[in-house]
Amino acid sequence: MVTVSRDAETPRLAEGIAARRVQAWLAAAPAAGLRRGELLLPELPADEVEIEVEACGLCHSDVSMWRNAWGRGGFPLVLGHEVVGRVVARGTQVPALYPGQRVGVGWYRRSCMACPACRRGDLQHCELLQRLLTDGHGGLAERIRCHWAWAFPIPAALSPQRAGSLFCAGITAFAPISRYAHATHRAAVVGVGGLGHLAIRFLRAFGCEVLAIVRDQVQARDALALGAHQAVSLAAVEHGSVPRQAIDLMLITTGAKLPWPALTSLLAPQARLHLLAMQCEALPIAPAALIPQAITISSSPLGRPDEVTAMLSFCVRHDIQPIVECMPMHEASSALRRLESGDVRYRIMLLPDF
Ligand SMILES: [Zn+2]
Ligand SMILES: [Zn+2]
Repeated sequence: MVTVSRDAETPRLAEGIAARRVQAWLAAAPAAGLRRGELLLPELPADEVEIEVEACGLCHSDVSMWRNAWGRGGFPLVLGHEVVGRVVARGTQVPALYPGQRVGVGWYRRSCMACPACRRGDLQHCELLQRLLTDGHGGLAERIRCHWAWAFPIPAALSPQRAGSLFCAGITAFAPISRYAHATHRAAVVGVGGLGHLAIRFLRAFGCEVLAIVRDQVQARDALALGAHQAVSLAAVEHGSVPRQAIDLMLITTGAKLPWPALTSLLAPQARLHLLAMQCEALPIAPAALIPQAITISSSPLGRPDEVTAMLSFCVRHDIQPIVECMPMHEASSALRRLESGDVRYRIMLLPDF
């Protein structure tokens, strides 16, 4: 049994909700197997909610954190940032959310609500942003806590066992699509994984013509089943054997090695190449390949709270839910290994069995 005190630097204004211990699955060191242990949580801050976890997805960022690939990790580490659960306690200054309400939480757990980014609604760019895994603990636990603004009520039409990855993969794909896609666009999705499978469905529902750029025949078949109009292989793109395309918006959803010059040659004038996968390599793209056609390269992390809310409504309206496989939470270590080996279509959701 491992006991950890994680004291995030949050105001202690709350009365009533006392410090408590919760069970969690902990990685003691980078890449160590997950062991069941206990976290000691302080008194609940006045503007935070406590959520009893019902399901939590695992994503490639969890693997990066687990391996300490970004050097951000504080170990012991509790993974999981695609959380669905019920509000079980709320601080005295929480203006929304009620006990028993089902909510979802992604990467972020707290924004200051006062800095310039927060004041313009970009809470994900807050100067004092807190993340679930580094400033609190993740969803491989009985309970998590976050500021009320980062806990989103989940519509009843969405399955609690499937909705979790909307709060990471889903909003990551949805935000740039809602900002940049037009119904008249030809859009391309590179990679058909946790992010890509939702990007294809969103773009199709937005009215775009959708090209999937895939690794193999299996992904091609899946992409067409998800709604892509056409699927071509990365190898064909690399060898220049794909008929001329004029892609207006290309989303990079995979950290795999990519033929960048060949991909940019598929873009239309004034197109946008948008990066979503943090694991992506450095880009070997010459400015001379971009400037004559006024190509924009952009990127974004997750999205704003209002975009999360809009995405949830959009998912209900268009019947879009992540495709997931459920496993008991005590199998989290083997779920991480499967995720690393690419053997997941498209998300593993872990169900607590403490
Ligand atoms: Zn802020
Ligand atoms: Zn994620």
